[in-house]
Amino acid sequence: MAVYKNIDQVMKASSTHMVGDGFKVRPYIQSHLWEEVSPFLMLDYVAPWSLSPTDVPRGVDVHPHKGFETVSILWEGALAHEDSSGGKGVIHAGDVQWMTAGSGILHKEFHEQEFSKQGGRLHCAQLWVNLPARYKNESPAYQDIHAKDIPVVKLDEGEGYVRVIAGNLNGVQGPARTFTRVQIFDVHASAGGKTTLSLVEGDTASLLILQGTALVKDKIVREGDMIIFEKSGSLIDIEANNDLHALLLSGEPIDEPIAAYGPFVMNTKEEIQLAIVDYHAGKFGVLN
Ligand code: MN
Repeated sequence: MAVYKNIDQVMKASSTHMVGDGFKVRPYIQSHLWEEVSPFLMLDYVAPWSLSPTDVPRGVDVHPHKGFETVSILWEGALAHEDSSGGKGVIHAGDVQWMTAGSGILHKEFHEQEFSKQGGRLHCAQLWVNLPARYKNESPAYQDIHAKDIPVVKLDEGEGYVRVIAGNLNGVQGPARTFTRVQIFDVHASAGGKTTLSLVEGDTASLLILQGTALVKDKIVREGDMIIFEKSGSLIDIEANNDLHALLLSGEPIDEPIAAYGPFVMNTKEEIQLAIVDYHAGKFGVLN
């Protein structure tokens, strides 16, 4: 019989910092949590942020990645992406961009030009999803996932819905192509909305409350809280106390050593050294 997951801990972000000049992030996942939240390596959350108009788009200029995937989820604003594998795209509210760095890639991430000129609110998150050793040298790839292609599952009770970005919820499959089992659900509920999310027994799970207050397994959690669940069990109960927006991350843990250095995430120090050599030798391609 399926059982409910217990809460391991409820945590807050460490202090806000800037990534380039375009992303004021609250970092939620640090290395001490990697085992509990595997395959997720990073969750940088940009809470709704009002930007003044500018002719020079803000963002992060050309930089490398290797050994994992970067996922940007956008709720407000517009972002432009370009990479050395030829991947290129603009995402708007509700869209997601999924980049496989794999064997090595260069990319840049900026606010889209027209959005920059107009100014307005930016609200987004970037996740890093680890790849197991057998996929770390896959060819780089890029997926633009548009809001209209993200299926929606209604809550069990009350008003609200869950957008299935990746993985499977009640037989509804999200559009993201992943290498290992990854579930990313974008949860929206009105006061009184209730649902039970059914995950895979033994997978990691965490829930970030972006807005509102919820009752989760007898615990009241608020905006800014991130719940880390135990791996055992498969069910998570969420009841919204007011307008709720939350992000659920779950996945099959990758039980391998992690060697990380800035934008490179491999299994050993030797592989990191090789990644740095390859990057400086121009093996990640060209991007201006
Ligand atoms: Mn990047």
